Order: sequence, then structure tokens, then C-alpha cells
Amino acid sequence: MQKKETKYIFVVGGVISGVGKGITSSSLGLILKNRGLKVTAVKIDPYVNVDAGTMNPVEHGEVFVLNDGYETDQDMGNYERFLNTELSSVNYMTTGRVYQSVIEQERNLAYKGKCVQVVPHIPLEVISRIKDSGKRVDADVVIIEIGGTVGEYENILFLEAARMMKLEAPKNVAFVMVSYLPTPNNVGEMKTKPTQHAVRTLNASGIQPDILIARADVPLDQKRKEKISVFCNMPADRVVSAPDVKSVYDIPLNFEKEKLSDKLCGLLEVACRKPDEKAWLAWKKFAKKAHNGKKTLNIAMVGKYFETGDFMLSDSYLSVIESVKYSAYAKDLKPVFSWLNSSDFEKNPSLVKELKKYDGIIVPGGFGSRGIEGNLKVIQYARENKIPYFGLCYGMQMMVIEYARNILGLKDANTREVDPKSKNLVIDVMESQKENLEKNIYGGSMRLGAYKAVLKEGSIARKAYGQKEIVERHRHRYEVNNEYVAQLEEKGLIFSGVSPKGDLMEIAELSKNQHPFFLGTQYHPEFLGHPLSPHPLFTAFVKACMDKK
Ligand code: GLN
Repeated sequence: MQKKETKYIFVVGGVISGVGKGITSSSLGLILKNRGLKVTAVKIDPYVNVDAGTMNPVEHGEVFVLNDGYETDQDMGNYERFLNTELSSVNYMTTGRVYQSVIEQERNLAYKGKCVQVVPHIPLEVISRIKDSGKRVDADVVIIEIGGTVGEYENILFLEAARMMKLEAPKNVAFVMVSYLPTPNNVGEMKTKPTQHAVRTLNASGIQPDILIARADVPLDQKRKEKISVFCNMPADRVVSAPDVKSVYDIPLNFEKEKLSDKLCGLLEVACRKPDEKAWLAWKKFAKKAHNGKKTLNIAMVGKYFETGDFMLSDSYLSVIESVKYSAYAKDLKPVFSWLNSSDFEKNPSLVKELKKYDGIIVPGGFGSRGIEGNLKVIQYARENKIPYFGLCYGMQMMVIEYARNILGLKDANTREVDPKSKNLVIDVMESQKENLEKNIYGGSMRLGAYKAVLKEGSIARKAYGQKEIVERHRHRYEVNNEYVAQLEEKGLIFSGVSPKGDLMEIAELSKNQHPFFLGTQYHPEFLGHPLSPHPLFTAFVKACMDKK
């Protein structure tokens, strides 16, 4: 039998960032998967950070955690969700990680006395990682998204790796450029010039795009397709119109309207099956629900990683938002999110009254002391006024602090992260984490990745999951302090999910007859919500919000 040749599709950006390279990569993966191909995806971030775990989410968006505990970029979440797959650390790399591993190998004499150089050794390491990601799952196609835009100094070595791969096996490598075509207000006409420059810049790296995804507010007309064809040296039918859409889940459907999977399979000479009609229909139905929500669900997201200069960014909570959407769409609901800054409730506690108008409140993960007192006010209001509340990680820890303060009467209850001097540290640092903190070992050192939990019979969580044992992804350094568990339970807080040994509290909730939904998880359920299989706890939360309505 002939050995299978894995194909590689590089996705690069032109003109500006933030026009959807991640969603484009995910959508390319989905349309190829639908043609019977085994697809995996790799994200390359050009930062020197070894992983995304040490970056502030306002700088970089959400930190997405994989089952193996790797802290990565939010696009990895898009790939997992669109491809309905599980990725691992081989699917993610940064400049820092690549250099780190080259230097480690050099120290181990792996280069056998050679002079180790930026070129070719760094691109060779990149290539070996890309190939490894394909081998691990025996992929037909590996989609590799290179972060940033062409022409940036920091992604040059990754483009060099891509060029070398193309040289080695021209038929196995394709390049997709996601570009942007502005329509300046005062001109009133869509301009192709920035795209022409971007393609030339890519050409300067020795790479010619095979497909150009033309992102713009509106569809690209034939005239501009032809113009790009001439100036960018590519057939007009390889220029794909990608106008703004209301929902990103329409994008794979739009791509197939332009027969993109046929084009890619043709380019790479890969034998593919006819589209899987059943799977396609399921996606179509799901994508349609994103438009057709009958009733609105008003959700308050109380957090702190939104503000960037004069703008508001919701990227820090991407997986949470998407997970709510999947559960809401399945019930024909349209979720509308309000971004509320926890610090505002700190400055002006009477603001909590405004929360009455929401169907549900979420306090997502976070770090440090900013906004904590505001969050506690919000949680107290949600508990006392029976507004469905879902706390994720820090949101669960604060739920426990609030309960300890206001129900157990431990007025100074706190987490060691905020007030190490408190006499009632109901949330404390894990024993295994103490040394990390003392020695300032922060990178990749939290409790990370997939861990099992056992659920209590009769609880909201047990009912929602419909099973006794679950596996969920973690990212935290602190835990509920076991010294307080008995007191808290005595006063009604139920630890309905615990680690198999029973020593770590994974879920806290109030019983259904006390509150319609007051539940927090020490883990991050949002990392496992998928479009066609919504996460059971988000579904239970959405249902509670709907009932409140
Ligand atoms: N700051 C908390 C901890 O480290 C919660 C982390 C989170 O919300 N991801 O335990």
C-alpha cells in the first residue's frame, strides 16, 4: 500500500489582524472534515512567551486550556469546537517554546557539535513540530495558522518554515491568505490596494498564496476579484469572498457556496469523498438557530478583563460566551450579553439593584484582588434574589467566600490570593502550590488540564450531567479549604462534585428548593461546550434562566 501523504494548509493574515484567521482556519477544517478527511490544526503564536498562560487576557484574549493542561490561545478553542476534536500541546507553539526546545536540545548535544543557527535550526524545529502534530493523529490534512500578519518581523521564521515545506513537497502544501478589503467612507468603493501590498509582502518571503480569502464588510464583486487576480498573480476563482456575517457559524457554509473544499482538494491533489450530507445538515440547522432565536435571554457577565483603551473587548471570555450560545440555541433562545465591570459594584454597591433585569448572572474566572468585593456584592444579590447564578473557577471560589461571610457570619472570610492575613481563609492555596509561589514559579505551574470528579446523587450537577463521574479542565492555584467544608455544608451549601479521593471540592451548589440555580465549578466547563453538543451545566443554567423569565 502506498504511504499516505499528509497535506498542509498554511493560513496567514494580510493587512490587519482580527479579521478572522482563526475562524477561517476552523472553517477550512470543518469543510474538509466533511469531505471525509482526517483534519487537525496547529496554531503558531509569534510571542516570546513560552505559552499563553502568563499573558493578561486583555492583551491576548482568553487563555484556552487543553486536556493535557497546556495553556494556549483562544483559537485552539475555535478549532476544538468547529472540528469537534481534542487537541494537545503538539498543536500549539510560540516563538518562546520553539527556541526553548532548540536550546534544550543544544544543551543535550543533540546537534552533535554543529553551530546551531537561527536559520535553518529554528524553522526545522517548527517543521518537525508541524509534522509531529499530523503524525500523532494520522491526519490527512494539517491546517496551520500563523499568528499576526505578513510583514511582521516576528513571524518571519514561521513563514520560512512554511516555504521550506513547500519546497520539499510542492503538491503537499497550500497557502491561504486571509486579507482585508476596506471601503473607506469618503471613497465609497472597496479598495484592493492593501491586499495587493500584503500579497507582495508574502511574495518577498518566497510564498505565493493559492487561495485568497477576501474579508470585507460586503461581498466582493467580480470586478475586484479580477483585479486581485491580475495584481496578485492568481486565478480569479481562487479569490473567495468572505463578507461580514452575523454569526461565525455561517462561515463554513459560505465557503462551501464558493466550493472551497473542492478547490483545496484539487490544489493539493487529495482524494476526498462527497460531502457528508447528514453532518452538513446538522451544522446548517445549528447555524440557522444562531439567527432564529425566538426569545431573548439577558445574561450579565460580571468580570474585569474587558477594557482596552476606549474600547470594550469580550474576547477574554470567548469560550464562556460560546458555551452559553450553544445551550441557548438548542432551546431556540437568543442570548444577549451585558458586560458589567465588577469594580463598578465595588465603587457603588447600590448598582446591584440593576441586576434585577437579568435572567442570569455569570462570574467567570479571574486572578488577583481587583473587583473582588464587587463580585461578592453581585453574588449576594443573586443568591438573595434568586437570580440564576453560574460561577466559573474564581466565580465559584467567591461564591464560597460570600456564603461564609453572610451565612456563616465569618465576616473576614477570604481567599489567600486576596488577603493572606484573613483569619478565615475559606479558599486557600493548595499544598503542592506553596513552593511555586515562594519561588515565583508561575508559568505552567497551576493545577492545569483534565481531572476527574465524582458527583453527588440528587444534586443539580448530577442531574444535569446524567452521569456519576465527569472529567473537566482546570486552571487554578487555590482551592476550597477543607477545614470549612463541614460548616458550609451544615448551613446548606452542597459540595456536589468532589475529586475521586474526596479531598478537592469541584462543584458548590444550593439545593433546588433554596434557589433555582446557584452553582459554581472549580473547573472551567466552558472549555468543553461544543456547537452540536452543548455543555450540560450551561444547558441547566440556561434552562433556569428561561424558567425565571
Ligand atoms: N485565581 C483563582 C485561582 O488561581 C481562580 C483562577 C481562575 O478563575 N481560573 O485559584
